[in-house]
Amino acid sequence: MSIWSDKHTSITAGVSMASAKKIAMKLLVDKERSRVVYAEADKDFVDILFSFLTLPLGTIVKVLNKQSTLGCMDNLYESVEKLDIRYLQTEACKTMLLHPRSEAAVRCEYLKINIDDTKPRDVYVCKKFCSTQPFLFSSAQNAQCIHCKEKMDMVLTCEEDDSVKLFVKEGVKYVISNDLRVEPATVRHMLYLLQKMDIKDGSVLEEGFMDISEQEILALLKRMLVSEMPLTDLYFHQNDKTDAATRDHVGKKEAAQVLVKTESNQETNSTEGISITLLINKHKNKVLCAEADDNFLNILFTFLTLPLGSLIKILNKNTGTGCVDNLYRSAEDLSLEYIESEQSRSILLSPQLGPFFGCSNNILKLDEINPRYGCYSCFLKNANCDHDVVGTSVMKGLNPKSLQGGTEKGGGYAKGPGKFMVTDDLRVSPLSTISIVSKLDSSFDNVVERKVIIGEIQVLNLLRAAITSKTPLTDVFSPCQNPRNWSRYSLD
Ligand SMILES: [Zn+2]
Ligand SMILES: [Zn+2]
Repeated sequence: MSIWSDKHTSITAGVSMASAKKIAMKLLVDKERSRVVYAEADKDFVDILFSFLTLPLGTIVKVLNKQSTLGCMDNLYESVEKLDIRYLQTEACKTMLLHPRSEAAVRCEYLKINIDDTKPRDVYVCKKFCSTQPFLFSSAQNAQCIHCKEKMDMVLTCEEDDSVKLFVKEGVKYVISNDLRVEPATVRHMLYLLQKMDIKDGSVLEEGFMDISEQEILALLKRMLVSEMPLTDLYFHQNDKTDAATRDHVGKKEAAQVLVKTESNQETNSTEGISITLLINKHKNKVLCAEADDNFLNILFTFLTLPLGSLIKILNKNTGTGCVDNLYRSAEDLSLEYIESEQSRSILLSPQLGPFFGCSNNILKLDEINPRYGCYSCFLKNANCDHDVVGTSVMKGLNPKSLQGGTEKGGGYAKGPGKFMVTDDLRVSPLSTISIVSKLDSSFDNVVERKVIIGEIQVLNLLRAAITSKTPLTDVFSPCQNPRNWSRYSLD
């Protein structure tokens, strides 16, 4: 609770502080139909736009104050906030889930306007310096020292690295279409966009200007997730007008995709995977809730740590959410003349998790970067260490998810053996049968219990539903949605 209140204050402070920082942007506007045809911007803005791909879903929820409207991710995030730490492996697990980081976090500090306020160059050590061989540090706050059991709350801040490059090249004007395709500005591309938007008469066009500050960037991020025309929404302040219509559209598209996906994948191995027990209202074909163990929770929690670009990659550029797939394709298609390096591109297209963010049960096959390692002085200078580190103090990252202070990757966030309850809209809490009974309506006769086994395909479907739908469990597991697949997932 206190973490969130502090965070909230600092976000608000961040907005007012960053209000001095602005990026000018020109737009071509169709005044007759009140829509933006395209925007023209420099590197500063395009880097920010592309950096959205590196943000973990939990970070998106955080910076949008749990109003991302990204399926049920706001609920999932809020559940973690409320979850008592005795249901998590360590206190630091909560910090990691509420402030997830991708490998790009350090890079994004160099954006003209950075909406994420995590401090990726800070690491935490025990103030008693208990362990010196190696000198253990945690990249997440609230980890516990394995020797004195005190919190590792002394902050060491590594120096800035001036050689960091962002994403696109300087000195180029970029054109951003209304549905977020980014291309270098050319006359040919301008004509293509005019034609595509069916504009035959230049008299309907006018020039528009916008000063982009942190507030506009957050608004654009939010609109990008739900709208087919985020620039128009931003320019004409249609921030809520199109919400319902778009979400409805997205919902339908998503439901169709779930069906296609499960029907085309016939090879579910029902002996492997994680089992959950569903309570289903068979009359309404609705999943009321699921009873699950810590393994299933770790899958859901991984969704929060997943960077947007990796999500789009996993879902094969077919997320069904606004214009994010277009933005991803632009990063993919931009020629090397305009992108800083292939490494910059790969950070956008498949951003890795931050160190120790992965779980042992890695169904989504996510990669995580290695923690930094080296002698104390190189570590703080942010330099690669090629000193002979034998005999000197070596900085070594500990896995904040490990209660024993292990330095190996893996582990999990949630703690068993107690069971958890997951509602259809992904609210997670420790299992209480009394609160389940209160959710059941009068007709107990309609409620049946089903055990299902969850493998890779179900996790992918659940991920897609979690970001697009308000009823992901029903979408993926209800007998009505998947009549032909139902028997395959059922044990009885
Ligand atoms: Zn200590
Ligand atoms: Zn060194």
